[in-house]
Amino acid sequence: MGAIRLEAVEKWFGAAQVIKGVDLEVADGEFVIFVGPSGCGKSTLLRLISGLEEVSRGHIRIDGRDVTAEPPSGRGLAMVFQSYALYPHMTVRENMGFGLKTAGAPKAEIAAKVDAAAQVLKLEPMLDRRPKDLSGGQRQRVAIGRSIVREPSAFLFDEPLSNLDASLRVEMRFEIAKLHRDLAATMIYVTHDQVEAMTLADKIVVLSAGQIEQVGSPRTLYERPDNLFVAQFIGSPK
Ligand code: ADP
Ligand code: MG
Repeated sequence: MGAIRLEAVEKWFGAAQVIKGVDLEVADGEFVIFVGPSGCGKSTLLRLISGLEEVSRGHIRIDGRDVTAEPPSGRGLAMVFQSYALYPHMTVRENMGFGLKTAGAPKAEIAAKVDAAAQVLKLEPMLDRRPKDLSGGQRQRVAIGRSIVREPSAFLFDEPLSNLDASLRVEMRFEIAKLHRDLAATMIYVTHDQVEAMTLADKIVVLSAGQIEQVGSPRTLYERPDNLFVAQFIGSPK
């Protein structure tokens, strides 16, 4: 579960075309990273996959099923943003279980799923704390925990670490790599940090002005860039 396929996907905002015919195949369990300059369409592409934006032309399939017209709730994906607003008055346990509670899940099931997610994320000692008593990295883990309990078929991350300081970013990078191994879930991850891309990705998608410049393993992009844009982008320190 969790294979995603984009077929000739286009997105127009009024007269402006921001996604210009993207074809992409993401295998079940793959870790795919979108990189590219600011404004090239990374967030828009993620929002199209999640259903938060409507595709103008083309199709999106999840496990072979055409979900182009499905609302976000019908797609079974989890979206994790950089601004991870937690409910300040709720404990970590309540924050993580809230989505399941509003969906009407029984209490025992919610507790079991929150406990399992807390174990994966090493949040067990913090379950009764409130967000203000957590570090930035712990809060980000709670935000990820909220999506894990829904058991999505894939995770979509939009620059989840960009609000954290440098050392915490490195620490969280390891946490996310571990999460990917533990859950064996498909992950599509947007970052403008080349080091993050090179260390986390099975496959990197380099975007420029709404189009794919190259898709390949970190090693392929580094050693055999298709063009000067990819070479300069992957080679630049930041
Ligand atoms: P990135 O995430 O790569 O920085 P975005 O996907 O946010 O880029 O934006 C791609 C382009 O689409 C930009 O030119 C941006 O201004 C435009 N854009 C994004 N969302 C909207 C919107 N809701 N309405 C109009 N233009 C938008
Ligand atoms: Mg963006």
